[in-house]
Amino acid sequence: MLAYPTPVADRAVSIAALPITPAQYLTLRREASGLSRMQVARRLYEIKIKRFFGDRRPRRLFDSVAQALATVEQLEIPGARSKYRPVIDVLGGIFPLDADVYHQLIDEPADRRPAICRSCGCSRHDACGGTCTLTHVICNYCTAGAERLAA
Ligand SMILES: [Zn+2]
Ligand SMILES: [Zn+2]
Repeated sequence: MLAYPTPVADRAVSIAALPITPAQYLTLRREASGLSRMQVARRLYEIKIKRFFGDRRPRRLFDSVAQALATVEQLEIPGARSKYRPVIDVLGGIFPLDADVYHQLIDEPADRRPAICRSCGCSRHDACGGTCTLTHVICNYCTAGAERLAA
């Protein structure tokens, strides 16, 4: 299934009232980076790690691209949450995300969750270009993009 990005302005209005879930957070950050799920899966499949101390030959984290893709898809299913931090850290090496934000969305009550842009998923330590500011529900980079689209 191809996912076409919704124009920023529509999106901000329709979902502003809903809390962002950990799964939505991953989707927003992945889409903001312009990567498809398959592209992320291919990158995941390339990753090799040493599984234990003294392991001479790093091994692949996933046995196949299909297995990596299944993991990416599962993490983006509404309600999905990975308590297994290394997976999120590894994803953070493929597209920008803040693993702390992801885990705060799981663990913190609604009023203590971090502020996140509803359009691109950026947040304080993971800002667009390192400089964007979150004014209301979307960041000023996304606001500027929406104004360009509307012009
Ligand atoms: Zn944004
Ligand atoms: Zn931003």
